[in-house]
Amino acid sequence: MAVVERHIQDESLAEYLEPHFGYPSRTRPCVNDVGSCEYLDNVYWMHDVSMLYSYIMWGVILGILAVWTTLRLINPSRRASVPKAELEAQATAYPRSAYYRAWRSVVATKQRYLLPEAFTSIFGRVTRIQILILAIMLGYLLVFSLVAIVYKTYITPVKGTNLFNTRTGMAGFSDRIGILAYALTPLSVLLSSRESMLSVLTGISYQHFNFLHRWVGRIIFVQSFLHTLAWTIVEGKLYQPQPSVYQTFIAEPYIIWGCFAMLFITFLYVFSLRRVIQWTGYEFFKKSHYVVASLYIGACWGHWDKLYFWMLASLIVVLLDLGLRILGVGLNHIGYTKSGSIGFTPAPATLRTFGTGPDTAIRIDFSHPSPSWKAGQHYYLCFPGLSIWQSHPFTPSSLPSAAGSTPHHTYIIRALSGETSRLATLAREVEGGTTPVILTGPYGAPLTTGTPNLLAVAGGTGISFALPLVIEAGGSEAHKAGLVQLVWIVRRARDLAWVKEELGVLRAKAAEGRVEVRVFVTREAGPVEGEAEEDEVEVVEESKEVEVEKEVAVIDMDNENPENTEASLDVSALAEESRGFSVTYLGGTHPDLSTVVEDYIERSPASGGRIQVMASGPAGIGSALRSAVAKCNDGKKVGRGEEKSDVGLYWDDRFL
Ligand SMILES: Cc1cc2nc3c(=O)[nH]c(=O)nc-3n(C[C@H](O)[C@H](O)[C@H](O)COP(=O)(O)OP(=O)(O)OC[C@H]3O[C@@H](n4cnc5c(N)ncnc54)[C@H](O)[C@@H]3O)c2cc1C
Repeated sequence: MAVVERHIQDESLAEYLEPHFGYPSRTRPCVNDVGSCEYLDNVYWMHDVSMLYSYIMWGVILGILAVWTTLRLINPSRRASVPKAELEAQATAYPRSAYYRAWRSVVATKQRYLLPEAFTSIFGRVTRIQILILAIMLGYLLVFSLVAIVYKTYITPVKGTNLFNTRTGMAGFSDRIGILAYALTPLSVLLSSRESMLSVLTGISYQHFNFLHRWVGRIIFVQSFLHTLAWTIVEGKLYQPQPSVYQTFIAEPYIIWGCFAMLFITFLYVFSLRRVIQWTGYEFFKKSHYVVASLYIGACWGHWDKLYFWMLASLIVVLLDLGLRILGVGLNHIGYTKSGSIGFTPAPATLRTFGTGPDTAIRIDFSHPSPSWKAGQHYYLCFPGLSIWQSHPFTPSSLPSAAGSTPHHTYIIRALSGETSRLATLAREVEGGTTPVILTGPYGAPLTTGTPNLLAVAGGTGISFALPLVIEAGGSEAHKAGLVQLVWIVRRARDLAWVKEELGVLRAKAAEGRVEVRVFVTREAGPVEGEAEEDEVEVVEESKEVEVEKEVAVIDMDNENPENTEASLDVSALAEESRGFSVTYLGGTHPDLSTVVEDYIERSPASGGRIQVMASGPAGIGSALRSAVAKCNDGKKVGRGEEKSDVGLYWDDRFL
């Protein structure tokens, strides 16, 4: 039973009930005092408007998605707009059609102004476009929370007493934000799904929705808090007599559900704070977030079952996501076992470690029948030898196999302090043997460079993302007219041994002039001169300096591990300069990525069209590239046909 109904309306006196969707029916005619009747008119009107606003909000969301999807479909391709004669000659990039140039000019202008990061102390490392979307969303919700509220106060008598109730617009406002919070819940769940419907429509990989997911969650928390506070004031102060009104109110089952919902959303908010995640550990955050978010949805359903459909929609998305993940594990692992019967077969993986301490990296290799992936996508790997309760995202550095052959997976993993650190220990224990791996995926939107000019930038283990893109582009006809360049920033030259065989392939392609490889070694001054301590790292230019990898200490290369000695010996050959393959030792500094990007643009052929930068690695590299790439965009020049002023950036966000 609703608060309004309980306090003012008496169903036994009703001649008929007037239905209001999402609210208790109104008793008609109104037999209360004039003030209460007018107040009831307002409350029901505000409720109906609030319901309408929640539908309009979803109309706007669906409308934006429809426009986005349409824009993707009508996005003019460069090839289609090239005159046939020019295509055949593969010469200059001009002239493109006016439509193509106008389109790309808008994109370049957007990149120039919206790609850099802003307010990083508040929002972290996110682009201006994400902040703009958040600002529009906040503005929209603020306006729709405050308009169409009757800001009027009624002092009405309490029957049989000499007390008065104070009735204000607070109830209508509180219900408005409650309704909007319910309507936002499926959006928040959609933004967090790995099997993302939003990705299918927009082409944006699911992990890039994480920023909005977090902020929609915070908005729901604030709305829930204000909703609770407003009803506590109304029931605990403005309605009379006290404390009996409040005592009856707080004992109602729907209010008890509401209290639980508030408790759960507070938990979600507090335990998602960066500091708290650092304190509790990522695994606790991840698992408790799933469980408590589901409890929150259930508690909201219990609190106001008339709006159950928002919660049902949220649960459907949660269950679909979970169901598809389980199906994914099944598809990857259920099939004929060695004995010929149907069963569950994990992939037998070989593990190799490189380096020690904070420099440790692990290479995983296995061949296993699994759905094919596209360069840039990732899998979630679970190592039953460590725990069946954890799975972590990793990007295959190998190319998807040709149809019909068993895919070969290779992963390059940096050992941090949790599961990956235990994985390094396991790798040393099983050396020469195998360990089972369970995988789900592939996840993430498939990437296409869409232009012959490709600059791939990798920091450390970010090579797993960049490598397949470059190897693929180096062998593809589509990139023949452009320049394909890999820039890999590593701590030490010996890190090249992580992908020794693959670098061999690239070296051969470089010799043919199909790719260029530029390696920057940040902590060594030269092939034989030794290495720089972290304390000695200089700032090249404050704004351009990038953090290559977070670290705790510098480990001396002289260790007793024969494997590492062997690796370093191999590396002296691997780090040798050859045609199209250069190694620069920075001896404690970091490369200036603005110069790297500008050099690339300078050297890339005009016939290669616009420039696409694809990058992965520590977050500092992402920040530096965003500002470097933004500066190279110029909408006016692109409008005139200068395609090299149209520079895109895809940042593979690993949240590290
Ligand atoms: C799409 C994607 C692709 C990735 N590809 C690679 C790769 O190819 N190679 C590589 O070395 N690393 C990759 N990472 C990062 C890798 O997933 C984390 O380093 C790893 O999960 C850390 O595990 P841990 O238990 O040792 O972490 P901890 O040392 O306990 O925590 C360190 C940090 O790792 C992150 N993290 C921990 N667990 C997870 C998780 N389940 N999901 C997401 N982030 C987590 C958190 O930000 C945490 O703060 C990728 C991450 C993402 C999101």
